[in-house]
Amino acid sequence: MTVLAQRREGAFPDGINPSRARRTVRDLYTGPTLTAAALSAPLLALPDAGDPSALPGAAPLAGIPETVARWAGLGIRGLKLFAYGHDRDARATAATAPGNRMAAAVSIVKTTVPGMAVTTEVCGCSWTDHGECVLRTDEGAIDLDATYQLMGTMAVQHADAGADVVSPTAMLDGSIRAVRQALDDAGHRDVGVNPNLAIHTSLYGPFKSLMNTDPQSGHRRGLQLEPGRADRDTITQARRWINEGADSLTLQPVMTAVDVLVRLRDDQRVPIVAYSTSGEWGALRALGAAGMVEYLGMLKRAGADQVLTFAAETVAQHLEEVRSA
Ligand SMILES: [Zn+2]
Repeated sequence: MTVLAQRREGAFPDGINPSRARRTVRDLYTGPTLTAAALSAPLLALPDAGDPSALPGAAPLAGIPETVARWAGLGIRGLKLFAYGHDRDARATAATAPGNRMAAAVSIVKTTVPGMAVTTEVCGCSWTDHGECVLRTDEGAIDLDATYQLMGTMAVQHADAGADVVSPTAMLDGSIRAVRQALDDAGHRDVGVNPNLAIHTSLYGPFKSLMNTDPQSGHRRGLQLEPGRADRDTITQARRWINEGADSLTLQPVMTAVDVLVRLRDDQRVPIVAYSTSGEWGALRALGAAGMVEYLGMLKRAGADQVLTFAAETVAQHLEEVRSA
């Protein structure tokens, strides 16, 4: 067969595909798999006595300016803020108290790096003394009205402090509508609502122990997706959230749910944040920086618009070093 005939059949007789042969052309067609702009970092606002070495992104309020300035310098443009709740009680009173740790942390981030996109966790579990995400009636049932009210008020408080997106974490039907309505009523129509699609997993452990958010009795499995059905239930729940007013979604964890991420991407066109949770951090560290880039690049390829990861700073630093090498 002549070379021309071989080319007509789509083969490259010398083994070289011209679209990949030259680096300039590779870069032209594909670009980098991953850039720092695709990474968001979890920021864990701790009490002064907390242990900032427990997870990357953990810091007392006084350490936040230095942390976010460093991230911004590496090209990271978004973070998700979690606050270690103080003055916890059965009704999560401090969750909506003026100037609480969450509101203070949002203000500090926005003062330090105004262009940083700030997403906040909206959930009861950091603020209830029983550690549950929801409020309960005296009879022990979920107090839906009170929980909706709590989540809506928290969301408005975070938006007032400067949050760009609020992320309701407890997967309680009706709560996204309640949060969207509360924001609209308060004039925050341009603040996004990014609910969680949380699959039950052992990979939340380090976060829960650092932030002390494990429920005192039982577990919160009733508010999470079952792993054995996550491929179907995640899609059902995502559609429900969109109907309730969500404009983006977070899927967690991802290391053990990439199949779900692919299906979710196929079904939804809204921005998807893939949250590589705290329990994935140990495995990521073992991969090393170059391996982390490959893993996070895979999540992008699987359909994530943003990857929220404890590896964000390490990876952004590595990408910077590779670029300037
Ligand atoms: Zn919670």
